Amino acid sequence: MNKAEYHKIISKNPMTQKDVDKLMGILTNSFKIPKPEADFPQSLKWGDTPNITIDKAAHCFCTICDLSGECENKPCTDLEQFIYLLNQLLTMKGKAIYQPVGKAAEYAQWACNFYTGCSNDCTYCYCKRGVMAHTWSDTPKLKACFKNEEHALEVFEKELKANLQELQKHGLFFTFTSDPLLPETRNLTYKAVSFCIKNYVPVKLLTKRADWLEKVVWSPDCASFPINTHIDFGFTLTGHDELEPNASTNAERIEAMRKLHEAGFKTWASIEPIIDVNDSLRMISKTARLKICDLYKIGLESGKKYNKTLLNNFIKTTIYEINYYGNNAKIYFKDSLLSQAGINREDLPVNCVTRDYNMFN
Ligand code: SF4
Repeated sequence: MNKAEYHKIISKNPMTQKDVDKLMGILTNSFKIPKPEADFPQSLKWGDTPNITIDKAAHCFCTICDLSGECENKPCTDLEQFIYLLNQLLTMKGKAIYQPVGKAAEYAQWACNFYTGCSNDCTYCYCKRGVMAHTWSDTPKLKACFKNEEHALEVFEKELKANLQELQKHGLFFTFTSDPLLPETRNLTYKAVSFCIKNYVPVKLLTKRADWLEKVVWSPDCASFPINTHIDFGFTLTGHDELEPNASTNAERIEAMRKLHEAGFKTWASIEPIIDVNDSLRMISKTARLKICDLYKIGLESGKKYNKTLLNNFIKTTIYEINYYGNNAKIYFKDSLLSQAGINREDLPVNCVTRDYNMFN
C-alpha cells in the first residue's frame, strides 16, 4: 500500500472491516513485525482494543514514513500516530474509554475521548499534523460513534463499569483529542466526571482553559463524595499565548491553578511542548515559587531538534528551582527529553518520578 492509498483509507468515516484489515496489513507487512513475537491479535473486529507493542527497530521498514529508513534510533512520530489512530478507529464503534499507546501512554494508562477537534487552535497542535489531520477541525465534534451526548454518556457509563477496578487503580485521563473544558465540551465532561467520582474513579483533567472555574457544575449527587481527592487538574503552560490563540492566557491558567490548589485539589503542570527553554523555565519558576503545583510533566515538541547542552542545563535548573522553591513537587521528564539531553533517568534525584507515578496514592 502506498501513502496515497493509506490516506484515502484513514480519511473514511466510518471505515469498513475491510479497511481495518488493510491497515492491519500495514502493521504486519510494512513494519515487518514477526507475528508470533509481536503481541498482535490474529484477528480484529470493530470494538476490539488491541494492545499493540512494536519494537522500535521495526521503524525503517515503514512505508508511510518519509524518512525512508533513516529513522532508526529516532522517535517515529508517524508510527506512534498511526498506532494511536488505529486504536481510535478500532474503538470507534461505541467506545469512549481506551488504553493509549505510544507517546500518549506516557500521560495516562486509561483515557477518554468524546470529541475530536479543538477551538483553542494551538499552532503546534499534534492533532493537526500527520494522520490525524484528515479528521481535525477547530470546532470540536462528538466522535462519529456517538449519536448525541446522552448516547456518549450511556456508552461511557457502561465502559466505566466494565473496567471499574483498573480505573479505580490508575484513574482516567481527559482528553487527547480536544480540550475537556471548552465551552463546547465541558457539559459532557462534567457529567462523565461526576459519574467517575460516584464510582471512586480518580480523574485527571488537562486543559488550557480557565474560564470554566467559576461555573463548574458537578452533578448535585456528588456532594457527599470526596471530590477534591478524586480530581486532579493539569494546565498546559508553554509561556506562548500567541501560539494558543483561543485558549486562556498562561497567566490565567496559573491563576486557576492557584485557586484550585488552595481549594485542596491536586494540580499539575504540563510543560509541553517546550517552545523555548527560557519560557518553559519561567512557567516552572513561577508556579514553583507560588507553591501551587504538585507535579510537573515536561516534554519536547514532537519532531523538533534541540541543543543538547541547552536541554541539559534546562533539566538541572528545573530540578534546582522545583526542589528549592516547589514544596516537594514531583517531576516527570519524558523519555525523549532525557534522551536528547543525554541524561539517564537513574541519575535523577528521587522526586523525579517515572511515568507510573500516581498522584492519588
Ligand atoms: S489544546 Fe490541545 S487539542 Fe486543543 S488545539 Fe491545543 S494542542 Fe490541540
